[in-house]
Amino acid sequence: MFDYLIVGAGFSGSVMAERLASQHHKKVLVVDKRNHIGGNAYDYYNEHGILMHKYGPHWFHTNDKKVFDYLSRFTEWRYHYHRVRSYVDGILVPIPINRDTLNLLYGLELNEPAAVQRYYDSVKANIPHPANAEEMVISQVGAALYDKFFKGYTLKQWEIHPRDLAASVTARIPVRTNRDDRYFTDTYQGIPKQGYTALFERMLDHPNISIMLQTDYRSVLDKVSYRKMIYTGPIDSYFDYKFGKLPYRSLRFEHETLNQEFYQQYQQVNYPNEYDFTRIVEWKHATGQKSHLTTITREYSMDAGDGQEKYYPIPRDVNHELFKKYKHEADQLEDVIFCGRLADYKYYNMDQVIARALMISEKEIKD
Ligand code: FAD
Ligand code: UDP
Repeated sequence: MFDYLIVGAGFSGSVMAERLASQHHKKVLVVDKRNHIGGNAYDYYNEHGILMHKYGPHWFHTNDKKVFDYLSRFTEWRYHYHRVRSYVDGILVPIPINRDTLNLLYGLELNEPAAVQRYYDSVKANIPHPANAEEMVISQVGAALYDKFFKGYTLKQWEIHPRDLAASVTARIPVRTNRDDRYFTDTYQGIPKQGYTALFERMLDHPNISIMLQTDYRSVLDKVSYRKMIYTGPIDSYFDYKFGKLPYRSLRFEHETLNQEFYQQYQQVNYPNEYDFTRIVEWKHATGQKSHLTTITREYSMDAGDGQEKYYPIPRDVNHELFKKYKHEADQLEDVIFCGRLADYKYYNMDQVIARALMISEKEIKD
């Protein structure tokens, strides 16, 4: 007899399990259909001994001290700023676009933030309320920079024109007037020192927590008893797609291990215009691992048709309308809590799902 059946051992499910077990003294069963814990943040050592992230690069960043302090109970940190370059017009330049990006690309000598802002002002479109991902960018940096950095990448990543995607998608990438080349400026950022999987192992190591892997929750429903379910899988799947399928993007990863210390100078290089892949990640830059070998991963985006892993909800109005129908159904169920990137159908970062799981578990503990 369990108090909670938790579907999914990613950040949403694992944080809920840890809180309910350790603070609420509840007996929790966590099931995941994959053969490991950690959800999309799972990392592992490949056959060459290189630590890599199975489901694409996970760079932790947050301004939320509560989230950072909470995670710090289960890990030490490798303090590290994530830096990304974009391959544009045959050279590697900083993304987010900053002062160096403009100077390198156009041979300019802008040397103070005000001059950079004047440049943006001279090229940007006057759109006070950007309504989509294209307008979001051209309202800040104009059409030429949009064409070079965003249009091709977004088309590859989503197979949808940026005009038909929510403004929030490209709003994730700031525009800078200084030389800061960090991908994020959050107060807390880095990577768990022993990796994400080690963090999850510590988080779930509690006598009140049982785990079943390679188990679809449906296969245990008539075998275990529980009072409440916490569901972190895709919301449309829970309801047997009764209103139709919510679209998701998936990814294909091409890994290559090279007999050299490093392949590229940065942990991530984006390719907005060339090739079919969106980016190449070189893991050792982020993890700090020492080896005479290096592994790189090329990332190809694709539709999450039948059987593909669901990685990204697709933020656009028509999808949100469909999601709302499922959400309405979900709200009728008193004994099932829906939370997480797939269950909320939201393009959440890790810190956002952790903050949400902490909030929901506090509410559960109070009730
Ligand atoms: P998930 O991690 O998806 O976990 C859900 C779990 O539920 C899965 O393990 C799944 O197997 C399980 N499940 C589903 N259905 C069933 C079922 N029927 N039965 C049993 N189990 C089931 N965030 C950042 O902050 N920084 C980054 O750099 C970053 N990079 C990312 C890169 C990529 C390519 C992707 C895809 C995401 C990235 N994220 C990043 C987002 C981050 O992965 C998510 O915010 C977070 O992992 C979501 O956690 P979750 O627990 O809600 O969902
Ligand atoms: N984007 C882009 N060019 C870039 C980086 C990002 O066009 O060089 C756009 C693209 O639409 C992408 C979105 O901004 O999907 C969010 O980028 P982010 O790096 O946050 O993507 P994630 O790491 O979540 O895949």
